Amino acid sequence: MESNKIINFQSLSQNVGRFSLRNKKFIIPQMNRIGSHLLAAAFRGFGIDAMVMENHKGLDLGMEYTSGKECFPCQITTGNILYFLKNEKERLGESFKPESYIYFMPEADGPCRFGMYNKYQRIILDSFDEFDRVKIGSLSSDDSYSLNGLVEEDQVRGLRKASYFSVVVADILDRLLWRVRPYEREPGSTDDFIESSMHQMEDTFAKYGPGNAFDKILSKLEDIVREGRALIDPAIPPKPLIGMVGEIYLRTQVHANQDVIRVLEKYGAEVVNASICEWVNYTTYDGLRDAKIGFRLNLKQLRLRALKEYLKRALNFGTELFYQQSKQRQVYKSVRSVMDLAEDHEVGHLEKILKERDLFSFDVGTEACLSIPGIVEYAMEGYNGVVNVYPFTCMPSTLTSAIVKPLMNKLRIPYLDTPYDSSFQPGREAAIRTFMYQAQQHLERNGRKDFSRHG
Ligand code: SF4
Repeated sequence: MESNKIINFQSLSQNVGRFSLRNKKFIIPQMNRIGSHLLAAAFRGFGIDAMVMENHKGLDLGMEYTSGKECFPCQITTGNILYFLKNEKERLGESFKPESYIYFMPEADGPCRFGMYNKYQRIILDSFDEFDRVKIGSLSSDDSYSLNGLVEEDQVRGLRKASYFSVVVADILDRLLWRVRPYEREPGSTDDFIESSMHQMEDTFAKYGPGNAFDKILSKLEDIVREGRALIDPAIPPKPLIGMVGEIYLRTQVHANQDVIRVLEKYGAEVVNASICEWVNYTTYDGLRDAKIGFRLNLKQLRLRALKEYLKRALNFGTELFYQQSKQRQVYKSVRSVMDLAEDHEVGHLEKILKERDLFSFDVGTEACLSIPGIVEYAMEGYNGVVNVYPFTCMPSTLTSAIVKPLMNKLRIPYLDTPYDSSFQPGREAAIRTFMYQAQQHLERNGRKDFSRHG
């Protein structure tokens, strides 16, 4: 980098934020594969040229342009966008127009480095003459990832609903994969089936998303779940049930976590990973919670203008949360009438667990708010073991581990931390195998949760 290009502070505010997606190519990073593809399809349905970036091929570039102190997901996504843009430039030659791309990198507020990824990546893109006009489209957890400003005003509500629905459906397809694959008759059949189901769902979203015809999407989803169920060999007995929590990128990105779910399955597990929807619901729940706190504080001081503002925020977040949770419940109820997939945790219930056990507080924020009570809930529900997946040095996940490990020891539930960076740890598989041996013993002693029953 040339010294005069290291930081252009104006660019951090001018080229990171909400930009209209009209006539732009909207580049979505791949976190969980299905979720990213369905989200892109939902956007395409609304006439936006959205696509999912290839994943993990640019890791060397990511390493080259970071110092090594950044979080692992930051290195991966930095490498991915550089790899993508360099390839685009090579492919298109003279007709490559950086200003026609908007790269999607959302952020979250709170005491965590995720809020800095897009700023850091802005600095890196600005150091390339050919990429400094690529804008970074950012949504924030501060307003629950509102889509205002990205599309025409009359599309915002419809696109938001379709996007949320795509997240719920992607969660279900992931849960179907993890539920069926350990019991499949034909090795490899579940992976193939889920891949083709994902593409079918992309078409369904592009077709029915714009009119918010969710009943049509749901009916297609039920058909897929029914077909997926038929891949199971009923003669295979129930396996130890493993609950997974952790940092959202690492626990859902199979390259980043070296396909940890598949490795657990190799040693006899059936895994349920925490959902993406849980995080989306959490940001809305937290917005409502903050608005209520602000309202109470200002009520005490009789500040009328601020009171009005907080009341408005509370109503907005409250309405959104009600919509999200009722939609999610509707989808789970519908697919669970076809197959015994795991239900999702409600965020309000998770906060209650933290308060009752005095383990942590939502006032602190971060994913620890979900991971800690999520683990406790798994333990109480009858899971046979819990895995915490996270990037090496991740603050919220290290905190989760410190709080939960002694608790799991007390409850005699097998627990495993799996921090990842780009290196391969020789002892990892042995640790997973030992953990699975303990989980198997736990199953033999205590049985396991039955998803066909509620609670
Ligand atoms: S959650 Fe962990 S990995 Fe993600 S930004 Fe925060 S500290 Fe980094």
